[in-house]
Amino acid sequence: MSTLNTLTIKEAHTKLCEKEISAVELTQSCLDRIQKTNDQLNSFLTVTAEEALAQAEDADKNIAENKVGPLTGIPLAIKDAILVAGSKNTCGSKILENYVAAYDATVIRKLKEAGAVIIGKTNLDEFAMGSSTENSAFGVVKNPWDLERVPGGSSGGSAAAVCADQCLGALGSDTGGSIRQPASLCGIVGLKCTYGRVSRYGLAALASSFDQIGPFGKTVTDAAWIFSAIAGHDEKDSTSFIEATPDLTNLIPQIKGKKIGIPEECFIKGLNPKVKKLVGEAVDTLEKLGAKIDEVSLPNLSYSLPAYYIIMPAEASSNLARYDGIRYGRAAEVETKTLIENYLKNKAEGFGDEPKRRIMLGTYTLSSGYYDAYYTKAQKVRTKIIEDFKKAFAEFDLLITPTVPDVAFKIGEKADDPLAMYLNDILTVSANVAGVPALSLPCGFVDDLPVGLQMIGNYYQEETILETALAYELATDWNSKKPKF
Ligand code: GLN
Repeated sequence: MSTLNTLTIKEAHTKLCEKEISAVELTQSCLDRIQKTNDQLNSFLTVTAEEALAQAEDADKNIAENKVGPLTGIPLAIKDAILVAGSKNTCGSKILENYVAAYDATVIRKLKEAGAVIIGKTNLDEFAMGSSTENSAFGVVKNPWDLERVPGGSSGGSAAAVCADQCLGALGSDTGGSIRQPASLCGIVGLKCTYGRVSRYGLAALASSFDQIGPFGKTVTDAAWIFSAIAGHDEKDSTSFIEATPDLTNLIPQIKGKKIGIPEECFIKGLNPKVKKLVGEAVDTLEKLGAKIDEVSLPNLSYSLPAYYIIMPAEASSNLARYDGIRYGRAAEVETKTLIENYLKNKAEGFGDEPKRRIMLGTYTLSSGYYDAYYTKAQKVRTKIIEDFKKAFAEFDLLITPTVPDVAFKIGEKADDPLAMYLNDILTVSANVAGVPALSLPCGFVDDLPVGLQMIGNYYQEETILETALAYELATDWNSKKPKF
């Protein structure tokens, strides 16, 4: 069987340019891999083989005329919360199980214009709420490093698919860590861009002031290539940033002279000492490569998680109100007498436990009498956290933390304990609360399970993050290790 699916995007691009391989062969190789492994992993919810092969044929025609961009003919997977016209878009929820997208999200339009091949839609926690992909209405995704463990979430399907070579790269969305946390647990690269860097048009809204779409790659370069294709202003998303996005397809590794801060507040109780040790070693490597390392304090950082888990459910409860089974979403198969009864039945049947929990929490904190005590207060805390980051970035180019306090946990281990699950996000949510960009890349293994290093940058400094990450990646070889799966 062909092993083209194991290539990185950059490697595949070189081979496509040299006409050593065709986009159809590359796509077929990924489709074969999916067919062979998806029963075990459950990473794809929809595989659009026919459309993908047709897109690959088009790519081959362009390649024959030497019209080749970085993503021409490259098979990518898309989180099932990002609309691809004509494909199902379930958001991992029963309430949208039959919904077929009527249009392409802006990021999909851009990927198609770049010649990429969209191979299918990946599994996720229902409405992107979760850190393990156990909350999907369509079954849990398995971590390719250990099938008894979670791949992280909520973009667990995309991360597992890239990790298991079912595709060359993928898109996820990150509201509180849903790209970086699964990237960490699956040993790949994941980038959450600055809030406003990538259009959210066509992304099912979870918490609109946090949500960002971003790439997964097997390498930093691959993530940079996908980032360069999807970023940029979009008049359909009023929060998207107007300034031009740098083209990072010719990323040059750079570290020398960079000032890197280590936030003392991130080395928390509950951090696995072996993870801490690996992150310490990564910091040493960065120092050897010429970075200037110093401690930094972000005094309000410990309030990120509580602030996030107030604001996020508030926004989610409002966003999810539209799924009433009449205007949007599946209707329950029961007779109802009143409109309210109808809404209640549709929502009770259509939503799983986690969306229900967050709708209740969010509705409560937004209700009169509690709004100021919870929502307004959390927003004030958010401002404090933003100030902390601004202060830190007046002095430092980057901040380094572990991405997650521990390695991938066992399926079921935290499923009945929402607080333990929420704690998994403790190191990722602050970048969303502040809106700054952050990346996770592999920095070693604990008991044969990957560990991620988080690099947080100043607003719109994806380039600084990626060029530093590239220098680190080139100096280490963590991403050359693959799961036996
Ligand atoms: N795990 C976080 C949550 O459940 C983040 C989710 C996300 O980024 N979509 O809220």
